[in-house]
Amino acid sequence: MEIQHWATENPAAVDVQATLRDAIELMHHHKIGAVLVTRSDRLVGIFSERDLIRVAAEAPRIDDTIKVADVMTPDPITAQADDDYNVVYMLMKVNNIRHIPILDGKRIAGIVSIRDLTHFYQHKLESEYAEARERIDVLKRLINLSTDEVLDSLFSEINRYKELSLTDHLTGLYNKRYFMRRLREETARAHRYKQCLSLIFCDIDRFKRINDQYGHHAGDEILRQIGALLAGGIGEMKIVSRLRKSDIVARYGGEEFVIILPETSTENARIAAEKMRVTIEAHPFCFADDKLAVTMSFGVAGVDSDVRTPEDFIRRADIAMYRAKQNGRNRVEVFRPDFNSGYGSAAPN
Ligand code: GH3
Ligand code: MG
Ligand code: MG
Repeated sequence: MEIQHWATENPAAVDVQATLRDAIELMHHHKIGAVLVTRSDRLVGIFSERDLIRVAAEAPRIDDTIKVADVMTPDPITAQADDDYNVVYMLMKVNNIRHIPILDGKRIAGIVSIRDLTHFYQHKLESEYAEARERIDVLKRLINLSTDEVLDSLFSEINRYKELSLTDHLTGLYNKRYFMRRLREETARAHRYKQCLSLIFCDIDRFKRINDQYGHHAGDEILRQIGALLAGGIGEMKIVSRLRKSDIVARYGGEEFVIILPETSTENARIAAEKMRVTIEAHPFCFADDKLAVTMSFGVAGVDSDVRTPEDFIRRADIAMYRAKQNGRNRVEVFRPDFNSGYGSAAPN
């Protein structure tokens, strides 16, 4: 900031011809610590309390014969009006001066006393100190939290973001959250417009064995590849699956996937599932020089008047999938009401 911001304008001044007494009276009258000494309105010197003390110490008595010009500080240090206040403050500190005339070119623009700047600096320091204290208080609160609390708050933050996400991090397919939302919407729409709607629920066969034999990493890689196959991301699948753009492929959890097929009859959904089954069975999953055969079991269900909620719908497709497991795995079953009894008892691994 420019120093003129702190300057007292129209500072008290005496002509170079004035007596010492004139200068003292002016200082006394205005209660100021310095007067400028001018010749034709141009600065030639400054007379300050310090000069007064010196005169008082040296002169036996002050009378009118003493001119201000004889006792002033000639050619004083000055600052220009647009000088930065920090620079001027340092200039005054270094030269141990208490008053500095401010010039605009050669014209006298004002005077600044060190006290004005010190007050400002003090204020500045005080507000910086207050800010620093606030920051320290925040840090103190954080330090007072135990590690568990910090971790808890981090995890709740992470969970918040997870909740906002629509995709599954491993396969990039839609996640269960999004699937449930869409299934609810599609079920309501199918009822409203009396349209077909099918659901495929599929589960990898004996996936536990694959994990045990080849490790979790291999298991994850298979999940990724199956995700891509189901979504039609691998060329061959595009031809065989006949999935449509409106179909929604999601990872339901673990090694279970779900596909919503709007405006698709149960029979067409069964055909689509059968093609997926064949594609996965034929796909070479390679690990540690082994070619792995991975298969999946599929359950298909269609919406009808008994399917009121998305949960009913999933349950039916899941029951059909379990029937496929019971019947030897690597197969497709379409839900029938009489499947209910066999739910939950898959054939042994
Ligand atoms: P089934 O043919 O009856 O389905 O047998 P299964 O072994 O596939 O079924 P089970 O439910 O007994 O085991 C599922 C396994 O899937 C258990 C778990 O180790 C594995 N799994 C679930 N989620 C993941 C995952 O994200 N990554 C990996 N690598 N494995 C997973
Ligand atoms: Mg499973
Ligand atoms: Mg399984």
